[in-house]
Parts: sequence; structure tokens; C-alpha cells
Amino acid sequence: MLAYTYVEQGRFELRDKPRPTLQDGRDAIVRVTLGSICTSDLHIKHGSVPRAVPGVTVGHEMVGVVEEVGSDVRTVRPGDRVTVNVETFCGECFFCRHGYVNNCTDPNGGWALGCRIDGGQAEYVRVPYADQGLDRIPDGVGDEQALFVGDVLATGFWAARISDITPDDTVLILGAGPTGICTLLCVRLKQPRRIIVCEPSAERRRFVREHYPEVLLTMPDECEAFVRAQGGHGGADVVLEVAGTETSFRLAWQCARPNAVVTVVALYDRPQVLPLPEMYGKNLTFKTGGVDGCDCAEILRLIAAGQIDTTPLITHRFPLARIDEAYRLFEQKADGVMKVAIF
Ligand SMILES: [Zn+2]
Ligand SMILES: [Zn+2]
Repeated sequence: MLAYTYVEQGRFELRDKPRPTLQDGRDAIVRVTLGSICTSDLHIKHGSVPRAVPGVTVGHEMVGVVEEVGSDVRTVRPGDRVTVNVETFCGECFFCRHGYVNNCTDPNGGWALGCRIDGGQAEYVRVPYADQGLDRIPDGVGDEQALFVGDVLATGFWAARISDITPDDTVLILGAGPTGICTLLCVRLKQPRRIIVCEPSAERRRFVREHYPEVLLTMPDECEAFVRAQGGHGGADVVLEVAGTETSFRLAWQCARPNAVVTVVALYDRPQVLPLPEMYGKNLTFKTGGVDGCDCAEILRLIAAGQIDTTPLITHRFPLARIDEAYRLFEQKADGVMKVAIF
């Protein structure tokens, strides 16, 4: 089968590999019907994910059809349409039992698919702990509607969930890339008084204006003054930092009102500084990533009910055989790309 492979730093290649087989009673084999490319894939390509194993098939955002299950799998059967979770978790350890599945202590726990074990930019993928890692797609929900459930949408859902948003709040979201938009969609479900999105790219601001006209828009240069004017108490009640730059990290605490919650969803290339003397007396509560991806069934229910729709994010579509082109486009952020679908 075709499998997009991490060869060495800077090089991914479409290779022919044998189809994956069951290795454990809790495994499932999934025929991938639709996949996507995530910024984390680019981090692997550029060598900034030391855990990534050369030779591994990349890709951790996908949906498909269950082909085969191990003898201990209970929740899915061959023929089921499923979303695949980016995180592998056992469901039994201390962290899993408390819903902190990102910190699962199993040796295979955490982000394994498409990083430490073969992922889904391929025709088939083996999913360990299938009872935890797969969720059945409800009838009436298409592959494109479900494509982001296991990764970027799970991230946005988790970020909104842990941010303690109330109906009185002014919520600031820094960054309107794919994860920022997914965060926006999930924050909207909490119905805060106001949502402000800060995004430097005119193209991405236009995307927000077109699809979510009720959202207020600003740019990094003007963000602090804008949020101060819009929020009632000298800043935003809740800030979600999804951009991952030095500027956005600084804006996250600067734009927060005293006693606000600041949720840091983003991944950074290098350490960021919290200037505590300047922040003294703001009494902020920081929450940090990564995602506990254990709400996929609930997210699928919301999609089926028409309350979350991420399909506008799919701006481009490519067959697996042309995945090199898809990566080029995604990496260069060319042609207004948000997300690509690989079929
Ligand atoms: Zn990802
Ligand atoms: Zn666990």
C-alpha cells in the first residue's frame, strides 16, 4: 500500500509498504477514507519532534472504515465508520481514569500515531487501544464533517472546556489558523457575551468575517487597546492563545484582565518568558496544553446535531498519490489554504 513516510530530516516520501496487521488483541486495522495534514507533521519533517522515528508513516488526522479488530476490542466492529484519535491511551491508568488521557502512562500512550508508530497518511492504519482510539461516526455525518474530530477539533473542544467560560465573558482567541477556528467553534457553544479573534493574516481575518460575522476581529498591533475597550474590566475575561508566537504569548497575559484565565493551547518552537515582575498583582490562572482527546463521542454528537461544522476549513482536496503537492501548498500557506483533505 502507499504510505507517506518520514525518511530523514527535511524529507517525506510516498513509499510502498506492506499493509499493517493486528499486533495485539486491542488493535484495529482501519482503511483510511480521508486524512489531513497537520502543522505537527511539518514539525516532524523539520526535525523538531525528537520522538519521531525515521521510517515511520506520518499522519494523525483521519477517518476511515474498520477492516479488522483484535479479540479484545469491544466498541467497534468491521464495517464501522470511525474517527481516529490522535492520542493513544489505555483508559485504565491513573491519568486516563481522571480524563487526563494526554498523560497516559502506558509506554504507547500520548501522541504515537504518525510519530512513533505508523500513522494514517496511507491506505491503512493500525490503531492500538481501539476501544479508546476509535469513535463511531453517526449516520448522516460525512467523512469531511468528521475529519478533524480526533485532532484539531478535539483540541479546540478541550481548550474551550477547561477555560471556565461564562455567559458574561469577553473571550479573546489569539490566532485564526485551523486550531484557532476549531477553538472558536467550541467557544461559541459556551455563548459568551463577546468573542474577539486576533489574527495578523488579512486572508484569515477575511475567513473569520465571512463565516462567523458576529465575531470581533483585531490585529496584534491593536489587540491590547481593542480588548481593553471591548472587555468591561481592563481586558478579556478569558484568553485562549492558539497562535504560538512570541508576540501572541505576550499578548495572552497582557490582554487578560486581572484574575482572568489564560489557556495556552499553542505549541512553541522555543521557551517563552513570563515576566513576573510586570505581571505582579494580575493574579492570572494559566492552563497549558496538550489536549486530552477523550471527548470525541460528544463532539460527533454535536456535529450530528448541526452545532459544530468544520467543513469550511477544508479548502483543498488531493488524492494520496499527490500528497507531495498537498504538503507544498500547506507548508507555504499558499492559495488561501486552511486544511487539505487527502482522499
Ligand atoms: Zn495534529
Ligand atoms: Zn492510561
